[in-house]
Amino acid sequence: MRIVLAASEAVPFAKTGGLADVTTALAKALTDAGHQVWIILPNYERIIRRSVAGPFESTGIRLEIPVGQNLVEGSVVWSTVPDTDIPVLLIDQPEYFDRDGLYGDKTGEFTDNSARFIFFSRAVLETCRMMALRPDIVHANDWQTGLVPALLATEFGDRPGFDKTGSVFTIHNLAYQGNFAHWDMQMTGLSWEYFNWRQMEHFGGLNLLKTGIVFGDVVTTVSPTYAWEITTPEGGCGLDGVLDERGDDLVGILNGIDETIWNPETDPHLPANFDAKTWHVGKGTCKTALQREFGLPERSDVPLFGMISRMADQKGFDLIAGAAEELVELDLQMCFLGTGDPRYETLVRHLSNSYPDKVAATVGFNEALAHRIEAGCDAYLMPSRYEPCGLNQIYSLAYGTIPIVRAVGGLKDTVVDATPEALRNGTATGFRFNDYTSAGLLDAVTRAVAAFSKPEAWRQLVQNAMGRDFTWSRSAQEYVGVYQRALAAAT
Ligand code: ADP
Repeated sequence: MRIVLAASEAVPFAKTGGLADVTTALAKALTDAGHQVWIILPNYERIIRRSVAGPFESTGIRLEIPVGQNLVEGSVVWSTVPDTDIPVLLIDQPEYFDRDGLYGDKTGEFTDNSARFIFFSRAVLETCRMMALRPDIVHANDWQTGLVPALLATEFGDRPGFDKTGSVFTIHNLAYQGNFAHWDMQMTGLSWEYFNWRQMEHFGGLNLLKTGIVFGDVVTTVSPTYAWEITTPEGGCGLDGVLDERGDDLVGILNGIDETIWNPETDPHLPANFDAKTWHVGKGTCKTALQREFGLPERSDVPLFGMISRMADQKGFDLIAGAAEELVELDLQMCFLGTGDPRYETLVRHLSNSYPDKVAATVGFNEALAHRIEAGCDAYLMPSRYEPCGLNQIYSLAYGTIPIVRAVGGLKDTVVDATPEALRNGTATGFRFNDYTSAGLLDAVTRAVAAFSKPEAWRQLVQNAMGRDFTWSRSAQEYVGVYQRALAAAT
């Protein structure tokens, strides 16, 4: 298939969150499966030049994009994903994109984000047309490209090169919707007839995420459970109604992990590498080194729990605060790495000062330490309030580090609770709790501590965890299935 991935982020070009990892990893996996992929990205020139050496070549293509009453000029710069032949088409419009941030800077969100991404969305399809890409699928992501499926379904649908093009729209986090004032509708160039509560309008304004949800031939999100949760009033962020209406056309596909970066056999950040056969020795070495690094007693008989996280309300730090007194009574050690909300930074600092033999914390962002925590810990804490997919619990499984998770979103889909039955049939990989309460978390941790004291049971859990397949090739196969559906819907 000929597939255009339209996104506002892709590693290593520009990243603020998981979308960036997905764009590039999916492009690579689809290419490996024999498909032809183009990534189309805004040319955030000063940001991109800091992390990508090139090549950057002009395509000679000049764009003239109507944005409301204005005709905005742009051009297309050609690059490739580093170490691959995958083309990256950078939409160049310096006034819009050559800035010190993707969506905002120190002073806040950019005030012209609607114009910037309406321009980008139109430019994606104009570029397809002018470069004769004739895509089978245009796969748009998040609100920044929410207009793309709408343009395909209306203006562009009958034009040469698009008459057989299907659209897929993926939601990476429903909390960010691209809500703008109603008068921004005129910038889209689409008829006001679409500005109604069933299509592009939301509480009186223009909602670009809703636009993508309504017009995409198929809509996906990043885990099956999140796909269901967002159709409920509790998880729908106000869009549960339109999401529910999509019925079977709303599909959850789990993200994979990039094995060139997260693989305990080859990870260069570790004091010892290991696999599913050698984990006992390898993890032992990593654990001792990690305890030493964090100044914790070097004991192999006590389970070491880790947590690496943005320190935000979403991630469950209030549950840890509520259970802290009881947690430190258990025979365990905990280490934290994270940065964010000052309340939670203070919490983990306070715990490590109060219980230096049990708790250690590093406040900051440290990629190498994140790898050492994943490898050196026995168990991993992820008590999130909500989690579209989540990556750290998947890294934990790959590193034989048993996740303790709240049964929500992607956490529920990736971790199998160690019930007696799941232990017997060899599927258990971790410990889950349902209610968002400190008592729920404490109960799950207590179960994990008890399991750790039984070496045979723990060995079984680690081997189950390390045996799970979270490669991108598996996820890409599911996307191809969705693309085929979108194609059938479009033709
Ligand atoms: P989210 O995207 O909501 O932050 P995920 O679990 O999907 O959560 O992904 C978080 C990613 O960011 C993981 O790769 C994690 O290791 C990394 N990360 C978060 N905080 C830190 C930190 N302080 N230091 C290093 N890596 C971090």
